[in-house]
Amino acid sequence: MDQPAPLIDPFQRAIRYLRVSVTDRCDFRCVYCMSETMTFLPRAELLTLEELDRLATAFIGLGVEKLRITGGEPLVRRDILTFFRAMTRHLDSGALKELTLTTNGSQLEKYAGELAAAGVRRVNVSLDTLNERKFTKITRRGRLDQVLRGLDAAQAAGLRVKINVVALKGVNDDELFPLVDFAAAHDMDLTFIEVMPMGDIGNEDRLDQYWSLKDLRAQLAERFTLTDLAERSGGPARYVRVEETGQKIGFITPLSHNFCESCNRVRVTCTGEIYTCLGQEGHSDLRAPLRASTDDAVLTEAIRAAIRLKPKGHDFDYSRQRVDGQISRHMSHTGG
Ligand code: SAM
Ligand code: SF4
Repeated sequence: MDQPAPLIDPFQRAIRYLRVSVTDRCDFRCVYCMSETMTFLPRAELLTLEELDRLATAFIGLGVEKLRITGGEPLVRRDILTFFRAMTRHLDSGALKELTLTTNGSQLEKYAGELAAAGVRRVNVSLDTLNERKFTKITRRGRLDQVLRGLDAAQAAGLRVKINVVALKGVNDDELFPLVDFAAAHDMDLTFIEVMPMGDIGNEDRLDQYWSLKDLRAQLAERFTLTDLAERSGGPARYVRVEETGQKIGFITPLSHNFCESCNRVRVTCTGEIYTCLGQEGHSDLRAPLRASTDDAVLTEAIRAAIRLKPKGHDFDYSRQRVDGQISRHMSHTGG
């Protein structure tokens, strides 16, 4: 049978990377991500594990090579390991090059071994502070020791760990070097993320939280020699090597436009909405086509139609002390 045509958007970008949010629920309530009181979706709204499998399989058939599972907290979705294990067949066939996840680490102690057995090789763990009191303040629920045990379990299972730190002014700006040292001591990669204006987060003020990565990098350069690396991921991350430690550190500045031209990714929410740009409201529905027919032709055509609408770039803007381009949905909706 002929290979179907790959997914190419109107700006000639080939879509190779799919992020799927498998739940909007989470055991944490991070201050930049959720409000204290969140209303979560009724379970019937969510794609079932079988539907998630069909969807991911359809994308892989259309040329997606990298699949990242996210949420909410993906590891709090019931039986989610069944889905990971189902994806192993695409790794085995070679169609899928990488299966990975972004997690808050709370359940890693429990699942790291099974994830590794399913073919996961790398995991991104969000960890904004090494201070127990601050950790509880940021996550409103979490326990640092549980996450640290999760990191140990991930490494013991052979998973490569990358720590994601959201840069928060007045919160973790005094922990830049402790975090860098921690990552170096444990041989973990490290990426800093600029906080983004997404969703109603209650009383927290976005501009108060905003710590520019330009400032963060300048602070880092006071102590270390940083060499820019050419390496790009098709996403908003830029990397430097710290010459003194050999570490690779990433900076994700989604508010800049310097990556949109190479953007190779799309996101699907746990209800089957496809967002072709993190920074735009526009989306299409894949759940109805999924449920309309067991024949994947309907789904495939809906995916192609959505990709034809992928915008050229996004509209975030923190300039002039206003949070323009504010996106009404929460990050936990699209999964970051
Ligand atoms: N629960 C998992 C976790 O925390 O890693 C996966 C989902 S979480 C929404 C994905 C990533 O988005 C995390 O690294 C989190 O820190 C980041 N994030 C959430 N809200 C954000 C915001 N407003 N600005 C920047 N990053 C954000
Ligand atoms: Fe949960 Fe992740 Fe959002 Fe924190 S960032 S509330 S862990 S989904």
